[in-house]
Amino acid sequence: MDVLPRLTPEKLASLPPGTRIKFGGQIVKLVGRGTLVNAAGRTETIIEYTDSRGVNGSFEEKIFLQTATQYLNSVRCDMCGQLRDKRDCEVKVVETYMTRSNGYFCQDSKCADRYFLIHPNQKPQPGRRKW
Ligand SMILES: [Zn+2]
Repeated sequence: MDVLPRLTPEKLASLPPGTRIKFGGQIVKLVGRGTLVNAAGRTETIIEYTDSRGVNGSFEEKIFLQTATQYLNSVRCDMCGQLRDKRDCEVKVVETYMTRSNGYFCQDSKCADRYFLIHPNQKPQPGRRKW
């Protein structure tokens, strides 16, 4: 029941091309890294990858590292944003304005309870709310 560590720049740099990385909601394969000079004249490290459909993509390293992890079975808690193993999470239906999807919440930190507390409109309301 531990929080999964995110990838560090050092760790990412040591991974060979072809390594599978969980990046956001998908699993991507590392292709390589390069540098790019941005509009402000600053040099950025770019991570190149192939996504699950075989489409090439690239992201600035620090953005990539915000969600990248080597734990392919990990999910991000919708409440606290920590990476957790799927088995340590409870799944709840989360509705937004347009979509209805599964949300993952840390089971041990009662993240789902906290989430539905601050988003009361998400909870199926059995009756009228008393103000
Ligand atoms: Zn959480």
